[in-house]
Amino acid sequence: MTLPRTAAVLPALLLLAAPAFAQEYKSGIKWEEPKVVTPGSEPGAPPSDATILFDGTNLDAFEGGDKWTVENGYAQVGPANIKTKESFGDCQLHVEWATPEKVKGNGQGRGNSGIFLMDRYEVQILDSFGNTTYFDGQASAVYKQSPPQVNASRGPGEWQSYDILFTAPRFDENGDLARPGFVTVLHNGVATHHHFELQGPTSFTAPAAYPKNHPAKAPIRIQNHGNPVRFRNIWIRELKTAVGVHPEKKVEAAK
Ligand code: MG
Repeated sequence: MTLPRTAAVLPALLLLAAPAFAQEYKSGIKWEEPKVVTPGSEPGAPPSDATILFDGTNLDAFEGGDKWTVENGYAQVGPANIKTKESFGDCQLHVEWATPEKVKGNGQGRGNSGIFLMDRYEVQILDSFGNTTYFDGQASAVYKQSPPQVNASRGPGEWQSYDILFTAPRFDENGDLARPGFVTVLHNGVATHHHFELQGPTSFTAPAAYPKNHPAKAPIRIQNHGNPVRFRNIWIRELKTAVGVHPEKKVEAAK
């Protein structure tokens, strides 16, 4: 027996219409409205809420900045480390850097510098363009903890970028580690670490291990390793998790 055409089509129509009768899930959480931020005018340019650490004119945002040379819109490493005067925890950090065009030295002695998050966790800067060294010490490595997933280096003298997303470690009231730190790194726009779990401060001389507590915020340090690495366009944004309040639970929904 053949069903009338309308009878065969009806169930399909009901299925199609079903979403209209589905009840929408609503969490009930009252969220703060996300702040409006104007993105940078071009890739790498600072968004409107960024703290500018170096715009090519001076290193006033850094302790020790007077020890480095600033000219032609860039800063060149001098005989000391520099550290931001301001302290930061969770953050998005953009840094542009170039190792010397004229190659000198090899391994760790070729275009070495580094970005130390919280003054402790180094994302390595090195000329790793055809320059062999230990893998967890090459450009974009989390120093002595993890090599980058890939080597996205540009050549000596070329400008390169790091975009770093950092989650600071958390310590409990006793000073014990409650949650490790995490870092995500894009090297020249290429992801080289994805939410890598930091094993502790990076060290040249010792295995990584978290100390008993450290401040919730600390300066960003840029390393003097004796090589004339150049820097430009450095900016940072503090990262805050969206916060909402559940009306029944009366607690913050996210931290
Ligand atoms: Mg270094």
